[in-house]
Amino acid sequence: MRVLVVGGGGREHALCWKLAQSPLLTALFCAPGNAGIAEVARCVPIIAEDISGIVNFAKANAIDLVVVGPEAPLTLGLADFCAAAGLRVFGPDAAAARLEGSKSFMKEVLDAAGAPTAAWARFEDAGAARAYLAKVGAPIVVKADGLAAGKGVVVAATPEEAEAAIAAIMEDRIHGSAGAEVVIEDCMTGPEVSFFALCDGSTAIPFGAAQDHKRVGDGDTGPNTGGMGAYGPPPVFSAAMEAEVMDHCVTPVLAEMAKRGAPFRGVLFAGLMLTPEGPKLLEFNVRFGDPECQVLMLRLQSDLLPLLVAAADGHLAGMAPDWRPDPALVVVMAAEGYPEAPRKGSVIGGLEAAAACPGVTVFHAGTARREDGAVIATGGRVLGIAATGADLRAARDAAYAGVDAVVWPGGFCRRDIGARAL
Ligand code: ATP
Repeated sequence: MRVLVVGGGGREHALCWKLAQSPLLTALFCAPGNAGIAEVARCVPIIAEDISGIVNFAKANAIDLVVVGPEAPLTLGLADFCAAAGLRVFGPDAAAARLEGSKSFMKEVLDAAGAPTAAWARFEDAGAARAYLAKVGAPIVVKADGLAAGKGVVVAATPEEAEAAIAAIMEDRIHGSAGAEVVIEDCMTGPEVSFFALCDGSTAIPFGAAQDHKRVGDGDTGPNTGGMGAYGPPPVFSAAMEAEVMDHCVTPVLAEMAKRGAPFRGVLFAGLMLTPEGPKLLEFNVRFGDPECQVLMLRLQSDLLPLLVAAADGHLAGMAPDWRPDPALVVVMAAEGYPEAPRKGSVIGGLEAAAACPGVTVFHAGTARREDGAVIATGGRVLGIAATGADLRAARDAAYAGVDAVVWPGGFCRRDIGARAL
């Protein structure tokens, strides 16, 4: 089978790494990929948002399955264009991808499906939003409706903070048109878990869980990032909770999406808060999390390729992937200046030594190979040093041994990944 993976981050490296182990695979391409992906796949210089470029490449190269990593091409309709061109694709069409693209749409679907989530209201008018705030008080959560790269959410401890968020999002439009509408929702408390389900439009199967570390600094300090590390399975997320989330969140939402004529195919990423009343949905994403995907791929024992094909073709019913009992943990190494202004171009050494550490797998994100062969940083998040171990502590120690083998003065990482669970 000839497979094209779209994207070039740690998530796509992990997917390529796992797909490359499939006995069903005959050729693996990645657009655009990175220096690490180039070791397991043929990288083609087409960016993930170049929809026609990707579709044309897939047709010209007789691709049997297109696997879409990031959300941007899904929102732009890559899956729709692939389907129209007769290509098999793993990832939702644009109508189903609205679950991630619009918070008010997502909340509407949750309510219609009867799925547990925070009470909410939506506003297109700042005055009405303020009047609502005056009624409900604080703490309260204010969210720009559209995509804002993780920065569109303000958890306001006081009415003043909530007011300031309304002004910034709706009037100053700090997130542009994503802030034309806001969702205001009740504040929930509890640990957060990323839960994944493979979906084929009508059937969903659980596909693992992880916890990530969003803030840039140790002790969960500093600005939010795409994720500085992750581990799984999360000790706080029991098998009973997983069953509850499948029954009360994922399955009803899948049915509701099908009822709306937008059946969801791909991986549904449920951002959960484990509240005192049980797991509740914070958000849906319509693709694998990054770095969570690196943890999932290290732990997945089954062949990934038939699972992705089954999700695309509608044949998931009865499939149950096998997982290694060992936990996995990944430490993200980022370029200095991340997330505000990562410095690009610094040379990274010690990658072979890191990969040679027992239990360690090195995933690349923002890397490229220079003409002289050196690996250089080209983005904010640059490496995922991932490891499995007999327990979480062993996985963490192995991952940090890998981190310490990397010679990269221009990079940094958090030193406390997994601490919450240990
Ligand atoms: P963006 O759309 O800007 O990319 P996002 O999709 O990451 O943001 P959410 O996942 O909805 O936004 O929220 C981000 C974080 O804010 C959550 O991980 C959680 O910590 C916090 N949060 C969101 N909603 C609530 C809530 N109702 N109660 C408490 N905390 C919340």
